[in-house]
Formats: sequence, structure tokens, C-alpha cells
Amino acid sequence: MPLQRQRIELRGLVQGLGFRPFVYRLAQEHGLAGWVLNRSEGVLIEAEGPSSVLASFIEALNSQRPPLSVLTEISTELLPCLGETHFQILPSPTNSTETEAWILPDLATCAACVQDLFEAGNRRFRYPFTNCTYCGPRYTIIQSLPYDRPRTSMQSFAMCPDCEAEYRDPGDRRFHAQPIACPSCGPQLSLWNPLGEVIAEREAALQASEKALQAGQILALKGLGGFQLLVDARNAEAVARLRTAKQREAKPLALMMQDLIQVKAYCQVSAEEAALLTGPQAPIVLLERLKKQNLAPNLTQTLNPRLGIMLPTTPLHHLLLKDLGFPLVATSGNLSDEPLCTEEQEALVRLQAIADLFLVHNRPILRPVDDSVVHVIAGQPTQLRRARGYAPLPLAVPAIQAPLLALGGHLKNTLALSRKGQVFLSQHLGDLDSPSSQNQYRHHLHTLPKLLGIEPEALACDTHPDYFSSQQAERIALPRIQVQHHLAHVQAVMAEHGLNAPLLGMAWDGLGLGTDQTLWGGEALELLPTGWQRKAWLRPFDFAGGEKALRKPAYIALGLLHSLWGEEIWERSELAPLQALKTSERKLLKQALASPELCQTTSSIGRLFDALASLLDLRQSCSFEGEAAIELEFLAQSWSGSAEPWPIPLQFSKDGWIANPEPLLIALLADLQLNLPKPLLAARFHASLVQLLLNLAQNSGLETVVLSGGCFQNRLLLTQAIQILQRAGFKVYWPQQVPANDGSLALGQILALHTKRKETAHVSGHSR
Ligand SMILES: [Zn+2]
Ligand SMILES: [Zn+2]
Repeated sequence: MPLQRQRIELRGLVQGLGFRPFVYRLAQEHGLAGWVLNRSEGVLIEAEGPSSVLASFIEALNSQRPPLSVLTEISTELLPCLGETHFQILPSPTNSTETEAWILPDLATCAACVQDLFEAGNRRFRYPFTNCTYCGPRYTIIQSLPYDRPRTSMQSFAMCPDCEAEYRDPGDRRFHAQPIACPSCGPQLSLWNPLGEVIAEREAALQASEKALQAGQILALKGLGGFQLLVDARNAEAVARLRTAKQREAKPLALMMQDLIQVKAYCQVSAEEAALLTGPQAPIVLLERLKKQNLAPNLTQTLNPRLGIMLPTTPLHHLLLKDLGFPLVATSGNLSDEPLCTEEQEALVRLQAIADLFLVHNRPILRPVDDSVVHVIAGQPTQLRRARGYAPLPLAVPAIQAPLLALGGHLKNTLALSRKGQVFLSQHLGDLDSPSSQNQYRHHLHTLPKLLGIEPEALACDTHPDYFSSQQAERIALPRIQVQHHLAHVQAVMAEHGLNAPLLGMAWDGLGLGTDQTLWGGEALELLPTGWQRKAWLRPFDFAGGEKALRKPAYIALGLLHSLWGEEIWERSELAPLQALKTSERKLLKQALASPELCQTTSSIGRLFDALASLLDLRQSCSFEGEAAIELEFLAQSWSGSAEPWPIPLQFSKDGWIANPEPLLIALLADLQLNLPKPLLAARFHASLVQLLLNLAQNSGLETVVLSGGCFQNRLLLTQAIQILQRAGFKVYWPQQVPANDGSLALGQILALHTKRKETAHVSGHSR
């Protein structure tokens, strides 16, 4: 049989997953000679042997590749034979000019490593930093590509002879595992008091931490992507103390449980949910809680039917959870609205008032990455916060070939960078209000393009001039476009699902700046191949109070009623929002609503939720934006009977269709007079919005409907909307790999930027 030598180039997600060892073993099995190496563009192989064997080798490269790896391209080239006799792994070239490989996310401990951890006599028995080619830290420890130990935060740990032998043994699971470590050469634990004094080390540190958790203390733990705060999830007093100290009064707290068996003692788990929980990304999954259980009642709002649960993500978490035998609260190590802590000394300062003890280690975290949050909608995993386990994997968007940058929004920010058909999304970077989050945002903006080796040619940001991200955009010397907030929401879904116009984009959210300078949020946008327009929207209303109104649903409710019925509303003393305000506050609001210059105008469905929550007297003050809307969802979900929609008629105006909530409000107030159960009223409100979505879709004459924007984080609304629209024959899409909230803006902005550049190139091409 004739001998051949082939040069094989593999591109995609091929580094850090044991790809080279896999290639090595495969070449051995096939009896081929040659070599494999990692370079920044991907994996390069030269293999020599009989031509038919080479062909089956190349086939197996694709069909047998390691779990999680993604091959986007295999190219081959015939070379002259060199007569080599064995196969080897060559070191990475250090002078690569182009960085094109993907960076892997951090992956939860694999089953084999968990087994090592609990196997008496194993040399990694109870070692909290064990990992292998298939699991462990990646993105949080990578300094630069190509992915090799000297370019990670493991560089200062010299391998011991045993680890070195495993690292060099192609038959070993840890062959070329860059973060390989063991008790004699790797990172170690220590337990600090709030003064930073070492109380215990190694196993003793772990055991003292467990004692503290059993006693109801708050432990700050240096995890994979940053500090977490841990506390016994059954201890209401400890949970309350954590809430107060962290200034997180109402938002639900995530839990970590030992294994699927423990989760099932507290929650219902579907097959899709179980797969998410136990997968290598190991996100927080929102699950329906069981009624009878011994968890602290203050983990979530009273009405919340769900719990956010994750399984252990690192060996350290496995040890803690198994030793303790009870679930832990595992929430981000930060004060409310601030970035995650990653460094011990910083944690001592920032978490001093929260944590009783600090369980730390000496492996640096180079990049903060929060836990991801996912729920299952219509059988599909749907992101609520995309971070650990997912970031910075790209989404395939073949249309976008140029290197571009998008700066995202202001809340729940993410960044996006594109290159050759792929869009890389940063991890969730959070709200950009505090100076510390702004600093961190600037840092990511500066370092992420370098890490990915992308030099953007142009950038996109939101049209809102007050967003911190928009302000940063002005400081970057690149051609820039501003993308309308709700257009970006719709385009994010188009990018994710590869959709083309024509389609109808329902963008329902809190507030975003519209092209008419009012605050949109209840829009139906028509996207045609020739451009887009605002096709329909919620009848705009004024509200007063600015930022304060976002925490006071009564302000929104009275603004809405005042816009409809004028001064007469002040006489209607039966209205819950009037009763909720002190006389002085009511007087100020009355004056403000009578002065258009003190008001803002909005068409936001998110704000309509606020108004309803206030009118039902469900909630009159919020600790975070959207809290009232969330409670309204929970209240509606508690209604098990049928719920007739109230009318929200569409009325034609010269600019488009206007959805008028007045008949809904009249009907609601009548139902309140009848003292109908409030869960029924909340359910009727949801049914009304779902009916409105259907009417808007049928009115549009379009077949494809996109649902996007923060309102579609509402599980009840989204699930019912998908159902009713699909039954009526529409093709329905919603954000799944990116969140429906502002975390998806950057993805939409980058597609809008690409589209704009294409149009401009087209126009200038004609004028030549
Ligand atoms: Zn492993
Ligand atoms: Zn070692």
C-alpha cells in the first residue's frame, strides 16, 4: 500500500480538552508516524502512513473527538513522506502571530476526578484542586494563548515527579492537562479570620470551615471564578444575617447541593434539567420547589415557586457538600451591585463585614466569572445569566466575518467581539453603576480583544448617552454606530438562530431609549430586508419620579392612570397606589404629573407590570428594578384555574398600531371591586398580554415572531406566548444561548453593526 504524509489542520474548540493526547492515542492505534502540536490557530498534525489508514484516522479525528470539542474546519494537504517512525507531541510555537483558537470555559469536576477525590489511598484523596484534561479551570486561569501551563496562573507551581510523569504519559487522563496538580506540588487551602490571620491550613482548614458552617457562620470561599458566600441553607437566622450584610434583601439566593439525589429531595427535576445540572457547565438551574422541605423560608420571596440550584463545581465544593450532608447557600462574593471579588486581600476588605471566615487558596483567579443561571423553557435550556461554563465560547454567526466590537448596555452588561463567522461573548459583567464595576468593565474592554487576538475595525453601542458603555464607546478611536436598544434585543435572537428578515420582533422590557427620545419597552418592530420600523407599541404614558419610580410601583401606576383619566384619579381613594403614599408624597407626585417637564414618557410593558403590582397592592416598594413584575408572575403562577384575558385593543394611528391598556384597567378595577382572588387577576393580566402578542402577530402579516427583552425572563409569559403563537402557526424564536435581558444587547448590536456596514459598502459600491 502506498505511503502518504498529510498535513491536517483542525480549527474550532480544540485546545484544553485533551485534543493533542487524543490525537496521539489515535495515531498510535492507527500505527501512524508524525507529530501534533497546538498553535494559536488550532491544532496542527502531520501524519505519515498507508493512505487508507490515514483516511480512517482523519475520519476518527472527527467522529471520536473528546466530549465538548467542536470542529469547525478540517483541512488537509499532501506532503512528501519523511520516513518518520514514531508519533510525538511537539511543544507549542511561542512566536505565533495570529491567535485564533477558542478559549475554553471552566468545567465542573468530571466523574473520574470525583472518584479520585473520595478513594482512600489515591494520591489525590481529598485533594481540593484535582483536575484532568476533561475538567477543571480554564478561562479563569488563562493569561494568553496558546493554552499551555506557563501562560496560566499555574505557572508558579512546579510539577512534582509524579505529576510530571502523568503529564507526559499519553495513556493517562492527565496527559498534558495544563492545571495538573497534587497535594505535594499544587495549590493549597488556608483558612483566614477577618483580619487575614491564618487559622488553619490544608485538611484542617477544610474541617474548621465545615464546623463553622455547621454552627451557622458565613464562609467566604475562593471558588473557581471568584469568591462565594456560603451558609447553611436550612438556617433561617444565618440566611437573614447574610442578606442583611450583603444588602441583598429580596433577590433569591442560589443553593448548592451534593448530588442529584439531594436535589430531588427538594425540587422537581425534569430530564432536561437533570442533564443541565450534571453537565460539565454545571450552571444554577431554576427548579420547581417541593412543598414540604426543611430549607430556610427566607431563601427566596414567599411566593417564588422555584429555587436556583447547582451541583458542586470543583473538588473543594464536592468535599464540603459531601462532608456536611446538607445544602448550602452559595451566592456571589460581593456586596449587592458590585463586581465579584477574586483576590484574597481584596476579599478581606470588601467582604469583612459579611464573612466570619475566609477559606482561600494560592492559585490566582485571573478573571472573575460568576455562576451561570439557566432555566428550561419549552424543553430548551434558556440562559438567564451566561457566565461560568459557557463564556467565552463563541456563537456561530456565519454572516459576520469582520472583526467587530459591541459594548452592550448598562445593566447586566456583556461585551461581544466577532471574527470569521463567530461572535465571542464575554461573561456576564453586571450592572455598570458603581465605580468598581465601571473599572472592571474598562479592564475587560481593554483585555478581552487582546486575549482573543481580535483587533476590531468598528464598534457598536446603545443610543442612550447616559449608559457607561456608550460613554466608553466615545473614547475608542474606531468608526462607531449606535444601535436602538430594542432593535438590538431582536437582532440578538436573529444572530443566535440565524434568522433573516422579514420578521416581527416583540421587544418587551423595562426601559430603553427609543428613536423618538421617549422610553420604549413595549414595542413590536417590523424587520424587512430593506430596514426596520416600529410597527406597534403600548400606548405611551407619563410617569414622574425618575429613578425613584423604578423602586415605587405606585408612582408608575398613578402615572399610567393620570395619563388616561387626568386629575380625577386623585379622588379615587379606593386605589391601592394612592393609599400606599403619604399625603406629602401624594401631593408632590400630583404636582409633578401635572408638569410635563418633570415627567418621562414610556411605552414599557415592564412598567405596566409595575402598575398592575401596585393596583393589586402586591408590592408598593422594590429593592431592585423588576421585583414587582417578578412577584406578579409568581402570584399568577399560583392560580391553577382558567383565566380569561382582559381586552387590550389595537388602535390604528398614522404612525402605527397602538395597544390601549385602558379597557384592561377598567376591567381590572371592576374585578377588584368584586373582590375576586388576586392570583386570578394576576393570571388574567398574563393571559391579556399573551393575547396581545397573538393579536400583534396576526395583525403584522408576518410568519416569524421573535420574543426578546427582559419581560421574557418571565417564565409564565414566555411559555404561554410560545404556545399560543405556535398553535396559531407562527414560527417563534426566543433567546436561549443568551439571556432575554440586556445581557444579549451586545450580540444584537454586533449584528446591527455588520448589517449597517454591508449597506454602506453596497451604497458606496453603487456611487463609484
Ligand atoms: Zn477530571
Ligand atoms: Zn504533583
